[in-house]
Amino acid sequence: MPASAPFASDTNSTPPPLPIAVAYGDGIGPEITTAVLRILDAANAPLNYDVIDIGKAAYERGVTSGIPDDAWEAIRQNKVLLKGPITTPQGGGYKSLNVTLRKALSMFANVRQVKAYTPFVDSDHPEMDVVVIRENEEDLYAGIEHQQTREVAQILKLVTRPGSERIIRYAFEYARAHGRDKVTCMTKDNIMKHTDGLFHQVFEEVAEEYPDIEADHLIIDIGAARVAAQPEQFDVIVTLNLYGDILSDITAQVAGSVGLAGSANIGSDVAMFEAVHGSAPDIAGQGIANPSGMLMGATKMLVHLGVADMAQTIENAWLKTLEDGIHTADVYREGISERKVGTEAFTDAVIERLGEEPVTLSPVRYQPARIQVEPSPTPAQEKVLRGIDVFIDWDESGRDPDVIGQGLNEAAATVDWILKMITNRGVKVYPDGLPETFWTDHWRCRFLPADADSISFDRVLDLLGALHEAEWDVIKTEHLYTFDGRRAYSLGQGE
Ligand code: NAD
Repeated sequence: MPASAPFASDTNSTPPPLPIAVAYGDGIGPEITTAVLRILDAANAPLNYDVIDIGKAAYERGVTSGIPDDAWEAIRQNKVLLKGPITTPQGGGYKSLNVTLRKALSMFANVRQVKAYTPFVDSDHPEMDVVVIRENEEDLYAGIEHQQTREVAQILKLVTRPGSERIIRYAFEYARAHGRDKVTCMTKDNIMKHTDGLFHQVFEEVAEEYPDIEADHLIIDIGAARVAAQPEQFDVIVTLNLYGDILSDITAQVAGSVGLAGSANIGSDVAMFEAVHGSAPDIAGQGIANPSGMLMGATKMLVHLGVADMAQTIENAWLKTLEDGIHTADVYREGISERKVGTEAFTDAVIERLGEEPVTLSPVRYQPARIQVEPSPTPAQEKVLRGIDVFIDWDESGRDPDVIGQGLNEAAATVDWILKMITNRGVKVYPDGLPETFWTDHWRCRFLPADADSISFDRVLDLLGALHEAEWDVIKTEHLYTFDGRRAYSLGQGE
């Protein structure tokens, strides 16, 4: 329970206490969590803390996820987790606790706001104020990887319509709730036309429903380069999981304030708030860690919980502290800072300023913003099976594509299938490949039925049976479909 506090916020009525789970974390976690809770208590934030023990101690007791059963229960019951950074042990089959929490509790959105605080914190981009909204569950992070030949490893990139719609709608709702003007989508759909193409297409569809917000799209490579060079051009960015992972670190780095950024992971039921940085074992226990990143996570938590006035009071006191030049060692600069302080003295300075606002930096203004989004049902479509890609492990000397091509064609002809083409690493090598193309032991062989437009699964089994009979090493298959007549698979390079 919050301790009695020297500062009373401006609210007229006292809201009922809101339950949250709190994890102190590892390394500097306990120091910065204690600091943040002191500030929340001093501001009379109406919170009930349910302290849970996750991370290093749990890992060491043999819980490979780092999250014991009672902690799971507490997080699911409280629905909000304020979390100190966790040390992930190297090796030993331990799983990243953050990834486990995000996936298991379906926290689909990761939200990171990165701002410059010049002239009080050094940054080459004083106007920068970017929010990166990253899809948190799909894409290459679904973790579906295989190696099926000696030379080739693969990963499945999953992009779904509901998953894309949910994160994109969240980004537009976030922009509206926070008075932001523009949402930029970043994908690589010039190359990944079906996966990134789906994300981009859903973005265009959803953007039409928000005519008050400017919407644009950039290819991720030029987009990331522009974020690094001119971050002040961006407002809200929404993107897929991997690009978002990289972009959110770029934004934090160019702002010069990695240690000052908070991070929110939002799901329909559960949300988790923390600092962007890790457990900093190199400075743990020294009393010098900066609690600002976790404090910024906590203010976003208060907005999520509907006590936006508290978030505003705390963040403005924190901005005034920065502005007064009271800085922890990571931010301290001769000539800019007034006083170098440790964690406790910095915390005291923020508490002393509760009720004050910054003068040079812009004060924050928050509205309660619990954003709830649900994807719409995917419309019915006519799905027709047209053919099949069969992947073969083949490593005969010379690896001549004409040899595998003729061999497969002969086997397929016995059951009325035609080999349309073979690609190796996506490049067409049969028929009529180029001798310069590099060949591995992993061959994607596209078969179409000789005698029908649409085919049955039995016909696929006939083909696989014939290939197996002829001793081809089939390692996997991908069905080729059309949806409402639209081709839903990529062509081979050069097809
Ligand atoms: P880190 O962010 O912990 O530290 C990087 C550097 O920044 C270090 O020099 C550290 O001293 C400094 N630093 C970080 N936070 C600071 C703060 N609040 N005040 C002052 N200086 C600060 O990154 P790392 O060293 O790569 O990771 C350490 C551990 O943290 C690893 O076990 C990693 O897996 C874990 N980690 C956890 C999270 C999380 O729980 N969300 C995130 C990232 C890393």
